[in-house]
Amino acid sequence: MLSTLELGIDLGTANILVYSKNKGIALNEPSVVAIDTETKKVLAVGTEAKAMIGKTPGKIVAIRPLKDGVIADFDITTELLQHIMRKASKTLGFAIRKPNVVVCAPSGSTSVDRRAIQDAVRNAGAKKVHLIEEPVAAAIGAGLPVDEPVANVIVDIGGGTTEVAIISFGGVVACHSIRIGGDRLDEDIINYVRKVFNILIGERTAEHIKMEIGYALVDHEVKSMNVRGRDLVTGLPKTITLKSTEIQQAMKESLSHILEAIRATLEECPAELSGDIVDRGVILTGGGALLNGMEEWVSKKIDVPVHLAPNPLESVALGTGKALKYIDKLHSIAK
Ligand code: ADP
Ligand code: MG
Repeated sequence: MLSTLELGIDLGTANILVYSKNKGIALNEPSVVAIDTETKKVLAVGTEAKAMIGKTPGKIVAIRPLKDGVIADFDITTELLQHIMRKASKTLGFAIRKPNVVVCAPSGSTSVDRRAIQDAVRNAGAKKVHLIEEPVAAAIGAGLPVDEPVANVIVDIGGGTTEVAIISFGGVVACHSIRIGGDRLDEDIINYVRKVFNILIGERTAEHIKMEIGYALVDHEVKSMNVRGRDLVTGLPKTITLKSTEIQQAMKESLSHILEAIRATLEECPAELSGDIVDRGVILTGGGALLNGMEEWVSKKIDVPVHLAPNPLESVALGTGKALKYIDKLHSIAK
């Protein structure tokens, strides 16, 4: 039982998920590691580490070792994966020894990036590591018939990147990847609040604002929210009230880049598949797809039906899990 275990891993910039055949999603935690800068020791990973962001004393830093969908810090990513595998073992109730792993690689990643992903997973204890194209995994996880000769359009809005792909016959026909995702929207909110109110807010507060009162659509029922930050003039804590309309404005430019990536990909669609897009629409996935009004906004802008995947935060992990069945077929991609 120990030796034949197979796992699917979604190594995301924002969240890391582990899928096992018998348990489904065994683990879902933020891709964050808290480190003591003096001893270089890992103090916490995942949810516990994310809770430390912006709140730790000087010698403890909370790091996100994945950036723009690829590995930015190899050693810390390996440590993150080791801890994650250990945590997953606990959930699964038995030791994971030398599993075979299917892990996703962003379509925009280089061969060096891909090799780094494979090596990090192997260093974390995996026996064989198979790579799968992330948009393909996302589409499989969203329940799309990727093997059929029809256009499946998937838009995966993650933390660091947005990947748009048209998949037909099991392969990527056209794709665009941009380094703009949910994190950029958080930054937009931080910058806006600093510029307009002279108040500094943290990343976690910005993400919270985005989820609560962030809207993709200009037209929406206006909401407001009280937010606390540090006044940059007095240095003291201050509470301000933010309106959803101003947050929409703050995120507008980044959102328009996401839309451009979708448009550019659709423009590259082979003529024979264009009709499918009108009939079948575009599927949104990734955590960023959960932004209020996202589906409606994209649909209005591109004039094509747009649907939200059933579990946007889990599509890729579910897809890697389903891909475990085709593990032999995937081997060729890994080389
Ligand atoms: P990754 O694949 O890069 O790990 P995810 O698909 O897990 O990313 O998505 C993470 C992003 O989704 C984060 O930027 C997060 O703020 C955003 N997100 C999650 N839930 C929501 C929500 N309800 N509204 C808006 N954004 C959200
Ligand atoms: Mg992702």
